[in-house]
Amino acid sequence: MTTVDTGGHAQGLIPSVRRLVIVGGSLTAARVATEARRIGFDGFITIIGSETNPPYDRPPLSKGFLTSAAVPNLDHHLADPVGMDVTLLTGTVATSLDSRSRIVRTSRGDVPYDALVIATGSAPRVLETSRGLEGITTLRHVEDAMRIRSALQPGARIVVIGAGFIGGEVASSAKARGADVTLVEATPLPLANAVGPLVAERLAYLHRQYGVELNTDCEVREFVGSKHVEKVRLSDGTTIAADLVVVGIGVEPATGWLRGSGVAISDGVACTPYLESTVPGVYAAGDVARWVNPWSGRSTRLEHWTSAGDQAVAVVRNALTTDRQPCSVTPYFWSEWYGHKIQLLGEPAHEVELLGAGGATDPFIAQYRFDGQLVGAFGLDRTGSVMKLRKAIDDRSSWQSMLRAPGSGSVQ
Ligand SMILES: Cc1cc2nc3c(=O)[nH]c(=O)nc-3n(C[C@H](O)[C@H](O)[C@H](O)COP(=O)(O)OP(=O)(O)OC[C@H]3O[C@@H](n4cnc5c(N)ncnc54)[C@H](O)[C@@H]3O)c2cc1C
Repeated sequence: MTTVDTGGHAQGLIPSVRRLVIVGGSLTAARVATEARRIGFDGFITIIGSETNPPYDRPPLSKGFLTSAAVPNLDHHLADPVGMDVTLLTGTVATSLDSRSRIVRTSRGDVPYDALVIATGSAPRVLETSRGLEGITTLRHVEDAMRIRSALQPGARIVVIGAGFIGGEVASSAKARGADVTLVEATPLPLANAVGPLVAERLAYLHRQYGVELNTDCEVREFVGSKHVEKVRLSDGTTIAADLVVVGIGVEPATGWLRGSGVAISDGVACTPYLESTVPGVYAAGDVARWVNPWSGRSTRLEHWTSAGDQAVAVVRNALTTDRQPCSVTPYFWSEWYGHKIQLLGEPAHEVELLGAGGATDPFIAQYRFDGQLVGAFGLDRTGSVMKLRKAIDDRSSWQSMLRAPGSGSVQ
């Protein structure tokens, strides 16, 4: 048995696993391949990805990619397949999985595996009412970002449907390019589920402070236009003129191709704490994976950049070595609106304390408590303070112990 160093102590690679196949050609796939090589796996690695580009990073697509003066360089790839000796099948769609024969069926033929990692991520929800009109788009791929970017001209009328994190970023980027922006949100307070109502109120102020028209508690009734969208009619009777509509109403895990494979699906690939699916030898990681996260003890599916990397490390360990360990992840997400840095570490809870909140754009931090434990922190322009709480939130430290040792974690 080959011995590898997995970061401190020697572990054993499983000799019978020689062909690692990863379906999905993005962040998680790149992280899995990189980690497999890092721990000394010298078998075959194949990445099957439907996009024509090699793996690239999505977070810039709603931020600098839209705002930069020069046309962005598309060459910001996450992995070097040649250097890593990885077979990268771009433009290749996995159509089904024959888990008995251990074969992935693809648009370019069959790919056999010993261990399979499902990393097909998620796809944006669409609004049925868009009726194929031009000028209505979601944002997931680099091609979407290019389309949006070219429409962001001074005075352009941009309507963003959905005031989540990505909707907020698009609104902010469009504003930075001099567009007139309207944000439409179905709930009374944007992001209230994600950050709690107290923080959500402050985020709503932020949009308004920077001149974005925020329409809450209303939905799209219809899009008006013959070929290209011209107006958006809302459920509250408002009609908004639009040159471009960006729909950001959440995502669905990309699991359709697994129908009939025996892999159980439950809003994502249903996994064990080891990120193994209901089919032995088939794992999942990234946006598509649902598992009971030991950190919270709850069934979770995370759509965050950092957790994709954390899960990739765990999945490689569990799929390729004998040293299996449950995958525990402290959720972390960042965003950037109107030049402000937003961070959410851990998760929100009803009990929340806001520190440093003054005006709408002033830095602040919110600390969330549940059952006497510190379970999360939200920061606006408080990067250092949020990160200082990392260990306490990882450990779900008791609130009392934090008060006793304020220098070790609690922030002002
Ligand atoms: C615009 C934008 C901004 C974001 N900003 C942030 C941020 O600021 N902070 C943060 O933490 N997170 C952010 N995210 C989220 C982060 O990018 C995702 O969590 C991450 O991309 C998940 O990676 P993944 O590889 O699991 O899935 P994806 O990135 O969804 O990749 C899955 C890949 O699999 C391919 N695929 C799907 N089905 C098949 C199939 N049947 N066969 C072959 N290939 C298939 C897809 O085309 C895609 O290329 C952002 C996401 C977007 C879209």
